[in-house]
Amino acid sequence: MSVRVRIAPSPTGLIHVGNVRSALFNWLFARHHKGTFIVRIDDTDVERSLREYEVDILEGFRWLGLDWDEGVEVGGPHGSYRQSDRFGRYRDAAHDLVDRGLAYYDDRTPEQLEELRTRAQAEKRHPNFYIRQPAEPVRAGAIRFSVPQDRPIEFEDVVRDAMRFEPETVDDFVILRSDGLPTYHLASTLDDVEYEISHVIRGEDLLPSTPKHILLSRALGGTPPVYAHLPLLFGPDGKKLSKRHGDTSLAAYRRGGYLPEAMLNFMSLLGWSLDSERTIFTRDEAIAAFDLDRVSKNPAIFDLEKLAWLNGEYIRALAPADFIERVMPQVEASLGRRLNDSERARFSTIAPLVQERTKLLIEAPGQVAWLFSEHFDIDPEAWTKVMVEGTADVLADAVDRLEKIDIWESESIEAALRSMLEDLAINARQGLQPLRVAVTGSSVSPPLFESLAVLGRQRTIDRLRAAIERLGAPGHPR
Ligand code: GLU
Repeated sequence: MSVRVRIAPSPTGLIHVGNVRSALFNWLFARHHKGTFIVRIDDTDVERSLREYEVDILEGFRWLGLDWDEGVEVGGPHGSYRQSDRFGRYRDAAHDLVDRGLAYYDDRTPEQLEELRTRAQAEKRHPNFYIRQPAEPVRAGAIRFSVPQDRPIEFEDVVRDAMRFEPETVDDFVILRSDGLPTYHLASTLDDVEYEISHVIRGEDLLPSTPKHILLSRALGGTPPVYAHLPLLFGPDGKKLSKRHGDTSLAAYRRGGYLPEAMLNFMSLLGWSLDSERTIFTRDEAIAAFDLDRVSKNPAIFDLEKLAWLNGEYIRALAPADFIERVMPQVEASLGRRLNDSERARFSTIAPLVQERTKLLIEAPGQVAWLFSEHFDIDPEAWTKVMVEGTADVLADAVDRLEKIDIWESESIEAALRSMLEDLAINARQGLQPLRVAVTGSSVSPPLFESLAVLGRQRTIDRLRAAIERLGAPGHPR
């Protein structure tokens, strides 16, 4: 059987990491089996579906490198891969099921249906027990699928093993609403049948819909696909993943300084493992190893700390030039302008030192902002901590020594400042931390001597003089 799988997101919001994990598993499965990965847009909800969310979904997939063989934008043998283009097709299919006696019109009101549920419950039956075809047929309203009550619906889920649903627990579900629009059940199942989907790999939250989809696939003349329901995502506290645990949209991670390859690695571990040891692996290794039999039933833990750690590992593993290329846009965006050539050179010199200290790409601009004069601000807290009685004299001494250096480079700067510490009999905290704050504005920066070397002698001395002046202002300790 050739593998044909799909991801079918609804463009009613920014794509959720749970859906992205489903997309990734479908993609890995397709690539492993040299099958076809399809992206279909489930936009049956015309009021809530927005084109901007579709753009977010597709940009997210592209960012992660999940390329698709058929579907929206790339097309394919089935015409449109947007459900809103196929409303007529679903309507015809629903009417055909009515003609064949497999579905029926229903004009009961929500209140009447609620009454049936209450009655079933009062009789200690499943609430869906009475949601069945009324004795008197009508020719208006919604169309419901008639669920055969003679036998259970059974199937073998690749992840969840043998599944069995008693027929009275499955309501005669609506397939076409009274306004003529299809429900998710009809549109999704008909598409899966017509696009010859071999495996449906999706979140476990959709498990209760699966008996409906199986019955409907058969009624529509198809063979139900193989189902694999993936474990839901939980936070490290064991509660269902929600905003409390951190961002749940992929967009937040895309903008938040994560590398796509780190994100892909992290997300592939949400319910799957490559082997019992390795946490870090490439996309090709994941493709080579991926199969549904290693997908776990256990809840998958979305652990932001692990993601941040992984991201840091990936950032450090980048070639320096690659790091610069990825961070430069972030630096320029935070400055609001392009860097000129000499600034680029300065940034490139310091970048490897920043790379070692960065877990998220978005941290980088803050770590180098002091290199660019318009962003040179002194952190008041850092200032108060290091600027004490006598600091102005230390800074003045440093200026003298720095002015006398022959060749301005980190080794000569280090030698000059270390001999200052010795001559003044002070330690690095007393002698070097004030310099760091005066020159970089912060008590955490890339290594000091390299930082001064990159900043250049004149800017360094100007900033030290400005600090001395500020210390001399009334009310400051001298
Ligand atoms: N549009 C549905 C969703 O995003 C698709 C579910 C499915 O894969 O069948 O939940």
